[in-house]
Amino acid sequence: MEPPPEDPRFLVDGMAVRLGKYLRCLGYDAAWDPAAPTRALARRAAEEDRVLLTRNGHAGEEWTPPPRWLLLAAEDPVAQLREVVGALDLAPGARAFTRCIRCNVPLRRVPREQVRAPRGVLARHERFWTCPSCGTVFWHGSHVANTCRKLGVAPPSAGA
Ligand SMILES: [Zn+2]
Repeated sequence: MEPPPEDPRFLVDGMAVRLGKYLRCLGYDAAWDPAAPTRALARRAAEEDRVLLTRNGHAGEEWTPPPRWLLLAAEDPVAQLREVVGALDLAPGARAFTRCIRCNVPLRRVPREQVRAPRGVLARHERFWTCPSCGTVFWHGSHVANTCRKLGVAPPSAGA
């Protein structure tokens, strides 16, 4: 595999969509198309300069590997995430929860005065983000801590 780019973008195959969602949680650009065969995903990964993450072990037979790809050994998506983090030497906590999980676009900070959220949420949290695509408002609630624990990464620091 060629050296990974500083800011890797990913394409996951249909067997690793949950891994793709975890990568978005950690702030990485991750795309998937469960209907596409690996052959087509490999072409798209090469065209879009994405790292192909696949469970398809028939590289070179069924499909032509793109410049950057990783064969996932694990079936469990958390274990797959560890494989990706290790292979690409990622710092997975550094940018956690900076991207909309649904839209795959970076979030923007939004002043608390502009946020429409339950009063209790506004009282407990200082910082809010919004997705420029779908408009969803995010804050670092208990789901962030829980997801970080599950994925084995440090939660975003309070001052970041
Ligand atoms: Zn969104």
